[in-house]
Amino acid sequence: MNNSPIILDGNCVAAEIKERLAPRVAKLGANGIVPCLATILVGDDPASATYVRMKGNACKRLGLRSIRIDLPSATTTEELIAAIRELNRDPAVHGILLQHPVPGHIDERAAFDAIAMDKDVDGVTTQGFAQTAFGFAAFPSCTPAAIMAILAYYKLPVAGKHAVVIGRSPILGKPVSAMLLNQDATVTTCHSKTEGLPSFVRSADIVVAAVGKPNFVRGDWIKPGAVVLDAGYNPGNVGDVDYEACLPQASAITPVPAGVGPVTIAMLMKHTVDAAEKASGTN
Ligand code: NAP
Repeated sequence: MNNSPIILDGNCVAAEIKERLAPRVAKLGANGIVPCLATILVGDDPASATYVRMKGNACKRLGLRSIRIDLPSATTTEELIAAIRELNRDPAVHGILLQHPVPGHIDERAAFDAIAMDKDVDGVTTQGFAQTAFGFAAFPSCTPAAIMAILAYYKLPVAGKHAVVIGRSPILGKPVSAMLLNQDATVTTCHSKTEGLPSFVRSADIVVAAVGKPNFVRGDWIKPGAVVLDAGYNPGNVGDVDYEACLPQASAITPVPAGVGPVTIAMLMKHTVDAAEKASGTN
């Protein structure tokens, strides 16, 4: 049992990231450049609409411009790709975010791969993922980057630790597994076909939950002293970790909300500013 776990405060980590961005945004502004993020939302999933709105609001607060493209759920892959290509060609747009998931009839991989590399601020292209896996991505996916930023901010050691990632999606579980491996963790990636999942989690020094199932990770799965990072964001602001049950076991844990979420958005802002600087040659 651990009596005083560190609550990993995503708002503090996000505030530091955004504080560093402010002078960079001002410098770009002095050169007549306003970093601009374009978000594309296909369909009317209310949760996705909320995420897109949160990202737009974050842009506004930091003095970034945001463009929101809403497409009907009947949009075809070709139409979506055409919209992405138009944004690729627009020099005033520095970052493009296609909100995941898109309706099932759309080829999401083809749509992600239509995003120009220098505007792929959420690391969703095949090439962006490959760069992340090799450890030199300009823009790794924002949620995995946020998880690594939280570990770094709180100086939690990664090298040599056993990290268990639950989830293997191309925007979360897989890239965060690669990023932990690149920082010398020993990584086990679990998924829906994993047999005996709790026994893997019980041996973890670092647990990353990226499942999309509320309160999935149970308190009795957590090794005493483990670090628990909850990327889950389910309806009603509920994470993938049973927070109350895991808290007494963990040495450090992210809450939901105010854990990984705000850092993800700060990371998206950072990548957009990075992209604007690169595009304008002011970095
Ligand atoms: P996703 O694409 O649905 O992937 C979920 C993953 O969990 C899959 O790899 C799936 O395995 C695995 N899984 C499902 N049921 C499982 C089970 N019973 N046991 C073990 N693994 C299981 O979801 P995602 O986009 O990665 O998102 C995951 C969570 O993170 C969601 O709650 C989402 O809302 C949240 N999220 C948060 C942020 C943020 O800013 N905090 C950003 C993005 C996503 P298979 O591959 O075998 O199907």
